[in-house]
Amino acid sequence: MKRKDPFRIKFCIMCGKRIPPTSDRQKLCSERCAKKRKVLHRRGLPAPYENCTEPPMQTYTLGEVNAEARAHGMSYGQYMLKRSRGEL
Ligand SMILES: [Zn+2]
Repeated sequence: MKRKDPFRIKFCIMCGKRIPPTSDRQKLCSERCAKKRKVLHRRGLPAPYENCTEPPMQTYTLGEVNAEARAHGMSYGQYMLKRSRGEL
């Protein structure tokens, strides 16, 4: 039942912030994050959100989280609880 990429939000793999959908391949929000990413890469470390298929929770606005919770037939609280348990 898991939907893929519910909001089609692009997010920075370093800080998890939302990225304006200017480029399809863009994965970093700023030059600063791009530099940090390079430092990690040189050490062979992944970016914090490198392997996230869904945007981190702080990427969403409250209204979007509410809408997503409703789409799952849950209240905001239930949704956040499930999400924090990794059930979504
Ligand atoms: Zn960033």
